[in-house]
Amino acid sequence: MVRYVYDFTEGGRHMADLLGGKGANLAEMTRLGLPVPPGFIVTTEACRAFLGTGAEPEGMSREISRHLSALEAAAGRLLGQPDDPLLLSVRSGARFSMPGMMETVLDIGLNDDSVLGLAKTSGSERFAWDSYRRLVQMFGSTVMGVDSSLFEQAIALLKEVRGVPDDVHLDAADLAQLVETYKGLIEYETGEHFPQSPAEQLRRAVLAVFQSWNGERARLYRRREHIPDDLGTAVTVQRMVFGNLGSDSGSGVAFTRDPATGRPGLYGDYLVDAQGEDVVAGIRNTVPLTDLERLDPASYLELRAHMETLEHHYRDLCDIEFTIERGRLWMLQTRVGKRTAEAAFAIAAELADEGLISVDEALARVSGDGLARLMFPRFDTSAVGEPLAHGIAASPGAAVGAVVFDSAEAVRRAAAGEKVVLVRQETTPDDLPGMVAAEAVLTSRGGKTSHAAVVARGMGKVCVCGAEQITVDPQGRRFTVGGTTVREGEVLSVDGSTGTVYLGAAPLVDSAVMRFLETGAHGERSAPLVDAVARALRRADDVRRLEVRANADTPEDAARARRFGAQGVGLCRTEHMFLGERRKLVEEMILARDDIERARALDALLPLQRQDFIGILEAMDGLPVTIRLLDPPLHEFLPDRTELAVRVATADARGELPEPHDVELLDAVNRMHEENPMLGLRGVRLGLVVPGLVAMQVRAVAEAVVDRVRAGGDPQAEIMVPLVDTVEELRLARDEVDAVLAEVGKATGVPVRCAIGTMIELPRAALTAGRIAEEAEFFSFGTNDLTQTVWGFSRDDVEAAFFSAYLDKGIFATSPFETIDRDGVGRLVEIAVAEGRATRPDLKIGVCGEHGGDPESVHFFHAAGLDYVSCSPFRVPVARLEAGRAAMEVAGDSDSR
Ligand code: ADP
Ligand code: MG
Ligand code: MG
Repeated sequence: MVRYVYDFTEGGRHMADLLGGKGANLAEMTRLGLPVPPGFIVTTEACRAFLGTGAEPEGMSREISRHLSALEAAAGRLLGQPDDPLLLSVRSGARFSMPGMMETVLDIGLNDDSVLGLAKTSGSERFAWDSYRRLVQMFGSTVMGVDSSLFEQAIALLKEVRGVPDDVHLDAADLAQLVETYKGLIEYETGEHFPQSPAEQLRRAVLAVFQSWNGERARLYRRREHIPDDLGTAVTVQRMVFGNLGSDSGSGVAFTRDPATGRPGLYGDYLVDAQGEDVVAGIRNTVPLTDLERLDPASYLELRAHMETLEHHYRDLCDIEFTIERGRLWMLQTRVGKRTAEAAFAIAAELADEGLISVDEALARVSGDGLARLMFPRFDTSAVGEPLAHGIAASPGAAVGAVVFDSAEAVRRAAAGEKVVLVRQETTPDDLPGMVAAEAVLTSRGGKTSHAAVVARGMGKVCVCGAEQITVDPQGRRFTVGGTTVREGEVLSVDGSTGTVYLGAAPLVDSAVMRFLETGAHGERSAPLVDAVARALRRADDVRRLEVRANADTPEDAARARRFGAQGVGLCRTEHMFLGERRKLVEEMILARDDIERARALDALLPLQRQDFIGILEAMDGLPVTIRLLDPPLHEFLPDRTELAVRVATADARGELPEPHDVELLDAVNRMHEENPMLGLRGVRLGLVVPGLVAMQVRAVAEAVVDRVRAGGDPQAEIMVPLVDTVEELRLARDEVDAVLAEVGKATGVPVRCAIGTMIELPRAALTAGRIAEEAEFFSFGTNDLTQTVWGFSRDDVEAAFFSAYLDKGIFATSPFETIDRDGVGRLVEIAVAEGRATRPDLKIGVCGEHGGDPESVHFFHAAGLDYVSCSPFRVPVARLEAGRAAMEVAGDSDSR
């Protein structure tokens, strides 16, 4: 037979699926012998059954009664017993903690009779009536669905009538009157009485928790986070303890270490004479937990001992809720606590030092995302005042700028050289130019998947969104927060790594971690953090199978990437070498009337390209450098079509002769214009139809190799052909490459040997990878284009236009341009790996799309059997760390959430 109810003494932390996180951990603390008020848990299975059929599952209420009786027997009194009531809390708790679930109802069991009993046994009428009015209010709003603001209004009105500023100034008679008002409100709003029967209160509270699983906010949250809808929630029913019984009582929250820095030692807040959420609600000022040592030394010592027990037992930072009732300590909740990136690294290293966890576990507990956050400069929090506002940390980094309220103003000021922060309620595609111009974006609405967040992340721009305390008034060109008004032009500091906003220009401090990664220096002040990062990276390098290369187009980038630990260049784009001064030469090549003119232009480009390659090959001496032949359509190197047309037309209108060069250019631009350049004449197609282009590029590579060899270097150039659809294209390109390599070898007497491979970035290439591998010595997945072509998305168009809506609707949990789409794009990757290797077992395979630096994608590429990932130089440390974690994941256990 199925069981629906477990006593705290029967559960444990590994039963979180069945008992919810909160219930499972309460059971664990009970098993450890910690002072937990007794209670029981109604399982997620009961919830699922209830939600499935709409009725209480058979036997559940009987089981609840049985467990309640046991509680009553142990307490020596009955639930709601008139002269000495046992009171209960009813708490929701799913496998994953989730907003939108029913709030906890405290003091179940109070009614018109037992409130008198409680007054007598506690010796405080005020306490009893305050507890009762809290119950009626909480039950009325969360279980019976009455708008909670009605209760708030009633209490505000009473305070006004009594002329008192605070709830604590209302006396027992006031509170008794308030209970009557509340009960009347409930009747008026629902047509029902507040239930006087304690058993009915309990039953209805339990069912309301079940129902809250399908509340609108909870469903939305699950959809966005891709938490399955069929998990259900558990319900924890627990004997009440009271922190609001006077100055020898109180409630607090605590961490076993500082969750901001990871430093060991108790850390938290305590509030005397307070219950439940009072501590975090900010209604009165809390004291630091260390003050408890003075206030109640015995409880403090006991608390310290329990926290040490918990940290040793969970082998991690724990956070807890506790209450002291008349000098007696009770533990009400624990879990493995959230922490900053800095704390994550510091704690992992220290727990490993203490022998509590292994070095591999330490590596498992840090993340590439966290490392990336630590690589940004930060505000010097010791030098700034109180934060102005808090929001969601949507896109990391720290930025300072003048406040502007619309896109046009942002663009105007930025053009004049001013740094600006764009502040909006929320952004739309119309705000794009302003977002581009701004240093940071701050919004008062929307979450991690809002338009502002998605677009800012895509642009690598600092963003804090959903700072709900802020009221934006774009017409008035100001925003208000609390009592403060901030006008256009005032300076704001925005920390996208923490979600914090400061008024004024906060001083920036460099990242010690970045300094270490760049120079190997550990520094003084941040030494423990830097050591922790260094150790995690060292372990990752030891265990990872994936190599990490960088995408670098210049010698400087290549050198930096190497300092960051890159094992080569996975993608050197040659198009940047066609810009700037050299654009003139590209123009000449395009406008060439015959082969001779074209050859002259190409000959002029050759030495410039060769010099670039020499620099990069030197920076990466001894390591592979994958050079991609020219990829973008040629008209990208010509002047803007509209601009040219206007110039020619203006001259015409003035009756002058337009510049012949302009006419010629316009003609060429018109000829080369494409409706869909992304799918047009680019990549290998370009090389096959523009004579001499491939030959020139390859010659530049080959001569650079010869130059490096003669200088005593060890150049490892590889030549990569982009945008191949079919093996025929690659074969033709390859023939040309081989011929040039041979020719240069012969002419110089230095044999030039370059691996020749291709990008796999079109679905057809992936599907015919077995054939393509006949001609390719290596594959490199271009997952940006592959994602565009598999989804039929033009990235530049879709991201700003509708991705936030797609994310909101839960169509995908993250953008497929950020994290590889395993089911679609990933499947093609797997096919291409398998079929490519079937043809050529030693085929070297990597990825050079931006996904190469994305933690989750790195895990996929590891599992798919790739040889390396290549990413931007700054992501190299992130990729190294995640490649290490991926290698362990396959070997050992993992808990990704
Ligand atoms: P949340 O999930 O929001 O943390 P909790 O279930 O932890 O909600 O409860 C809200 C508040 O009520 C917390 O401060 C908690 O410590 C307090 N609380 C819950 N159960 C009891 C109890 N049996 N006695 C006293 N306080 C309780
Ligand atoms: Mg809690
Ligand atoms: Mg591409």
